[in-house]
Amino acid sequence: MDKRNYQKELDNVILKEKGLGRKPRLLLHVCCAPCSSYVQEYLTPYFEITLFYYNPNIDSEEEYRHRSDELERLVREAGFPSKVVICDHDPESFERIARGFEDEKEGGARCRRCYELRMRKAAEYAAEGGFDFFTTTLSISPHKNADWINEIGEALAAEYGVAHLPSDFKKRNGFKRSIELSEEYGLYRQDYCGCRMSRRDR
Ligand code: SF4
Repeated sequence: MDKRNYQKELDNVILKEKGLGRKPRLLLHVCCAPCSSYVQEYLTPYFEITLFYYNPNIDSEEEYRHRSDELERLVREAGFPSKVVICDHDPESFERIARGFEDEKEGGARCRRCYELRMRKAAEYAAEGGFDFFTTTLSISPHKNADWINEIGEALAAEYGVAHLPSDFKKRNGFKRSIELSEEYGLYRQDYCGCRMSRRDR
């Protein structure tokens, strides 16, 4: 089977929505300010965006707040029109899905479970709020598996009845642009993914 091109699929959705003269409501799960920077710049002309910060994988309250504060500062200083929803830190949920997978390397089975945990919450929120689409910034990272992210998104879309927006945001130099924007706004760029195991392995 041919490898899917999620960037092309996203292009097609954007084209279709533009053709219908619509600006759909998008719930965008955000892992951190740097990853959201390019995605907001890219999608703001096409979607009415609500950012959804839910990351129970992050290993301390202090780090959790630092990343969410940076997200709010970015939105303010860059003048993005996005609304921002900051969820409470919920580390027990992450510990539940990580149990037994502590020794996995980054990119392994624990990470797939971690993507699903965060995307499930976003899908649930999007369905309750009547959003047109949900997606996540996670695919911008060269360390994250875009096939898994899109597979999970599609399964959750079927489960919750809200469309998943396909993505592979690292394409079209998305990752590079996120670094440029992070430098422009002096954003904190963490040197580990988020969980205690990624801090251990960094
Ligand atoms: S390495 Fe990152 S994606 Fe993987 S489990 Fe830890 S926080 Fe989640």
